[in-house]
Amino acid sequence: MDHTPTTDTCTALRAQVRELTDAWRAAGRYTPRSDSWLRSFDLDFSKELAARGLVAMTYPKELGGAGRTHVERLAVTEELLRAGAPVAAHWIGDRQIGPAILRHGTPELQREIVPRIATGDAVFCLGMSEPEAGSDLAAVRTSAVRSGDGWRINGHKIWTSQAHRATHIYLLARSEQTGNRHEGLTEFIVDMDAPGVTVTPIHDLSGEHHFNEVHFEDVAVSDGRVLGTVGGAWRQVVEQLSFERGGAERVLSSYPALIALLDQAAQYENDRELLAVLGALVARLAVLRRLCFDVATAMDTGQAPVQQAAALKYLGNTFERDVIEALRRTELYREPAPDSVLGQALLASPGFGLRGGSAEVLLSLIARQETRS
Ligand SMILES: Cc1cc2nc3c(=O)[nH]c(=O)nc-3n(C[C@H](O)[C@H](O)[C@H](O)COP(=O)(O)OP(=O)(O)OC[C@H]3O[C@@H](n4cnc5c(N)ncnc54)[C@H](O)[C@@H]3O)c2cc1C
Repeated sequence: MDHTPTTDTCTALRAQVRELTDAWRAAGRYTPRSDSWLRSFDLDFSKELAARGLVAMTYPKELGGAGRTHVERLAVTEELLRAGAPVAAHWIGDRQIGPAILRHGTPELQREIVPRIATGDAVFCLGMSEPEAGSDLAAVRTSAVRSGDGWRINGHKIWTSQAHRATHIYLLARSEQTGNRHEGLTEFIVDMDAPGVTVTPIHDLSGEHHFNEVHFEDVAVSDGRVLGTVGGAWRQVVEQLSFERGGAERVLSSYPALIALLDQAAQYENDRELLAVLGALVARLAVLRRLCFDVATAMDTGQAPVQQAAALKYLGNTFERDVIEALRRTELYREPAPDSVLGQALLASPGFGLRGGSAEVLLSLIARQETRS
């Protein structure tokens, strides 16, 4: 992994992560896995990273962050994904909720939550999708109604990854019906142990439990837990999605499987067609890493690069689908153990092109932006 433009600091950060992941692996404290950023949860590992300044890297120092750049953060996230490390406990909070609170939270909310993300103590899940609001996120029906000097929340979220382990949920709710679906939405930060919040598991096709449904029954939330403008969340959530879509995990979720595949390449030396496919995958990976770098650079200039992040996610998902297709052409595909990096990548892959925005949604977004510019 040395195609991305880099600096000495990034090289030192990569070495720091490798040293930590090597030590944990050698001590049997984790086993590398595919799709680890969503599925491999170990609070101790996240706290250890946090103690080394490798969580909340881009946040201001006065709020517990490291005051570093997104390019430096990218060096760290690439290494963690490469190692298939157990990072799910801090990934969502670190990647997008901390930045959303820093952009839109009140100073009190920032002081309450951001330092806790930086230490690994606040674990976030994402309450966006609902049974009738996935691709069409503006259709959310979970309601937020004014009550005294706060709010009452009622409704139902679905596909909420890691909600059963989270301390907080980011919640998108409808606070007003104006006739325009992109108006009247508000963002909240809700404690998972608040009275009226219930989590029920959903097991995926491999039998694994990382998905959940989250029900809200008359949940009281204070005004201080609102992010940004009441009724003006649509612009904010679109911005937040660029942080959700624009990272290396959209390219490297199946990286451990790709490496297992490349390790076997010598076995296929007579299959010129397969070797050409593998060579093309490696070349595409280099290009995609460059795109990740460009998105991180744009974030470092204060932008929320919505279109670039959507393009990265679309191309990254297409790349990962082709990694799986290459895998299907080999002996490795015959009965990979479900708990091997190959089996894990195969079983997780149907979700790659759906989560965080499906291919069709991303293409529409890119096309709309293109026709505007
Ligand atoms: C592994 C995984 C983890 C997830 N984690 C979370 C989470 O933590 N929190 C959360 O809130 N959500 C989460 N999700 C939900 C995810 O965001 C939704 O699955 C996604 O937004 C798609 O919504 P949907 O499942 O309702 O599918 P639908 O919106 O019903 O889409 C189904 C298909 O129809 C297509 N389609 C829909 N509308 C259009 C259109 N207008 N034009 C063309 N095609 C269209 C889609 O592209 C897709 O192929 C997760 C999903 C997965 C797979």
